[in-house]
Amino acid sequence: MADLLLGKPVGDALSEDTKAQVERLRARGVQPTLAIIRMGERPDDLSYERGACKRAESLGIAVRKFLLSEDAPQAALMEAIAQVNADDSIHGCLMFRPLPKGIDETAACNALSPAKDVDGITVGSLAGVFMGTGVGFPPCTAQACVEILGHYGIDVEGKDVAVVGRSLVIGKPVAMLLLAKNATVTLCHSRSADLPAVCRAADVVVYATGRPRAYSLEHFATGQVVLDVGINVDEEGNLCGDVDFDAAEPVVAAITPVPRGVGSVTTAVLMRHVAQAAAAQS
Ligand code: NAP
Repeated sequence: MADLLLGKPVGDALSEDTKAQVERLRARGVQPTLAIIRMGERPDDLSYERGACKRAESLGIAVRKFLLSEDAPQAALMEAIAQVNADDSIHGCLMFRPLPKGIDETAACNALSPAKDVDGITVGSLAGVFMGTGVGFPPCTAQACVEILGHYGIDVEGKDVAVVGRSLVIGKPVAMLLLAKNATVTLCHSRSADLPAVCRAADVVVYATGRPRAYSLEHFATGQVVLDVGINVDEEGNLCGDVDFDAAEPVVAAITPVPRGVGSVTTAVLMRHVAQAAAAQS
């Protein structure tokens, strides 16, 4: 039976520090504030937004929403970003992606003020992650994976880590963050040859592909640590990860469940970044 790497204790520990920082800021008259920019009403965006708002409220962080319809033009989105940039009372911004078809996502991401980029979406923040300079904030989900490993005392130095998925939101940045911790990282994707063999050979595997329960017994090995970043809805409408949990759990040493795993840490990381951004700007 695998150890469950639950997200709640990790998120709670992070939030304790964030709460103390927020209290210090509020005592000096600074109200840490997060802007949320959302286009349309995708269920996964709404679900993440609810979690983020709840977490923000519990920490004393204010949230301001900039909501646009799914078919709003690029100019309306750029105007919302400009408002966020110009408003000194807003310290960080979460913009839901993927943006609707027809929107230039790269232009939108790079229009955000680097100082308010608390989710690592601008070129400057990503450069910080890839160059290891510590400039800017890393994408929250990628950082959440690092926090989970740290919280549970899983040291990746010298270990073989496979990351499945190469998006700029998760796969690539988490590979860089773990490389910076001296792991030997293999970054896998949809064209990787013999993915099961690569996964089986790794000490730690991060799955981030958005494929419901796609990774089964042939991918797992005894003693492995598995981080399942996927948040998917199965055919019965239930939330599930990328990993076939029931197949993995008897084999591997430790695994994050879905729900109750990586997702809950992501919002805690986001709030820590907002508090840090507020401190840096005030
Ligand atoms: P994405 O942009 O769609 O990227 C998916 C990646 O998976 C791509 O690199 C793709 O490879 C790879 N992939 C697809 N099929 C594959 C296969 N058969 N074998 C190996 N790799 C394959 O997705 P994303 O934004 O990174 O999100 C991934 C998952 O994480 C989703 O379920 C999303 O909901 C979840 N998520 C969770 C959190 C959280 O807080 N836990 C936050 C954000 C997202 P190619 O590059 O070759 O196409």
